[in-house]
Amino acid sequence: MNIGFIGLGIMGKPMAKNLIAAGHALTVFDINPAPVTELVALGAAAGASSMDVAAKCRLVVTMLPNSPHVKQAVLGETGVIRGAKAGDILVDMSSIAPRASQEIAAELALKGIEMLDAPVSGGEPKAVDGTLAIMAGGKPEVFESVKDILLKMGSSAVLCGGIGAGNVVKLANQIIVALNIAAVGEALVFASKAGADPAKVRQALMGGFAASRILEVHGERMVKRSFNPGFRIGLHQKDLSLALAGARALGVALPGTANAAQLMQACAANGMQDLDHSALVRALELMANHEVAKV
Ligand code: NAD
Repeated sequence: MNIGFIGLGIMGKPMAKNLIAAGHALTVFDINPAPVTELVALGAAAGASSMDVAAKCRLVVTMLPNSPHVKQAVLGETGVIRGAKAGDILVDMSSIAPRASQEIAAELALKGIEMLDAPVSGGEPKAVDGTLAIMAGGKPEVFESVKDILLKMGSSAVLCGGIGAGNVVKLANQIIVALNIAAVGEALVFASKAGADPAKVRQALMGGFAASRILEVHGERMVKRSFNPGFRIGLHQKDLSLALAGARALGVALPGTANAAQLMQACAANGMQDLDHSALVRALELMANHEVAKV
């Protein structure tokens, strides 16, 4: 199947590579030409714009930073909506505001174009392995028609409700991840300042009830001071802002989320917005006047 892929960043590029590896013909586009060139070398065709990609493909996948980028790439002057035909399908795998997914889907529906929101969890390593967790929203029949293709990029794909539901579940995921990073950061700063070797703290705790993927992966980054993204603090700030705005509209208090958002804000204010979100520990370290890696 000829699939269009728009947005070839940290996540989109390996996801597109997995579709090529699965035997699909890809037409790709990104405003940054470097990853396009890389994928063309692997056999993909280069689209001239999002509109051009949509004109050539009956299924288009987008993997872009945030709601405005998806709106521009889909509804803009040279967007998907100008190239797609009735019956075509857009699968937006970006993490964006659930309301934005609904607005974009409503515009596409006027032309008979179907849409799923299908954000992912798992980060770059799982994007590379093709083992992402995919959480989708939209019509069941549209989901079923693309599920096999989604499973070339992920090891699970679950339809969670109507359009926007995938992004609601993704925000729930981001709340859990942020609070866990803050918990691991606090534990390492505390134990390290008390004199324990942070690498040993992580190793010891991985065998017990506090074990988690976050302690394993992000705990290791904190100990090794390897803060290259990964998932950028700026993107996680975006997700927590969306969660807090949604919670306000629902009348739900999210005190832990607000706290984690403040710690990320402190990182961003100190120039760390493009570091991996495990660098949240830096905000805690500044408050403790202690770095976990220095025993
Ligand atoms: P990224 O910034 O690395 O990649 C985004 C890509 O989109 C870039 O290559 C950029 O040039 C391109 N782009 C931006 N605007 C465009 C436009 N109008 N038309 C075409 N291309 C455009 O971001 P990422 O880390 O790959 O994240 C993408 C999405 O996936 C985000 O919503 C993010 O929240 C989500 N996500 C990221 C991770 C992660 O670990 N990085 C994990 C899960 C989900």
